[in-house]
Amino acid sequence: MTVTDYKTYRPALRDEFKYACGYCENREPELGGSEAFHVDHYRPKSKFPHLICKYTNLIYSCRYCNRNKGDYWPGFLGWALDRIILNPRADSFKKHIDQSEFPWVGLTSKGRWTILKLKLDSSGFCRRRKRRQSLENGIKRLGSVLAQLQIGLNNATQQNAEERVILELRRDIAEVISEINAVRQVIEGRAD
Ligand SMILES: [Zn+2]
Repeated sequence: MTVTDYKTYRPALRDEFKYACGYCENREPELGGSEAFHVDHYRPKSKFPHLICKYTNLIYSCRYCNRNKGDYWPGFLGWALDRIILNPRADSFKKHIDQSEFPWVGLTSKGRWTILKLKLDSSGFCRRRKRRQSLENGIKRLGSVLAQLQIGLNNATQQNAEERVILELRRDIAEVISEINAVRQVIEGRAD
């Protein structure tokens, strides 16, 4: 294997990380597509050359996190002060970072260091998170509309309602489903 062969793992990584950055959770569609994503080496290439092609050292990462992380690796002082970037493969981010607010808040020194180093509380990050949450709320609202429409359709069918009414309900249901799918695509879908 040559040193750039790790790039052949990119499709597998993309699938594994579900088209989102392993660090900040930004989705591909939010950052304009998969070209905004890189293959990050959790243990940086320059300091761990023997791990360049090691799959478990690779993280699907947005270009911002990849750039902010650079080739940082804690030195003696860093280890002593817990200046460690969380490993998406090994650490539970939720245990180290309170993600209930838009700017994430570190709960541990590792969590705080990860936020600081990767700028996970930047305004762009907060804006995208806010937008994602409002889309998720939108999906919930559409979901309850869909449930009501389906009840309406069941009732109409049981009561032998006019064909016109049933067709209209079916059309509305199809419309709501396609709206839900379109929003889902933005939140979780792969961008290609
Ligand atoms: Zn990121």
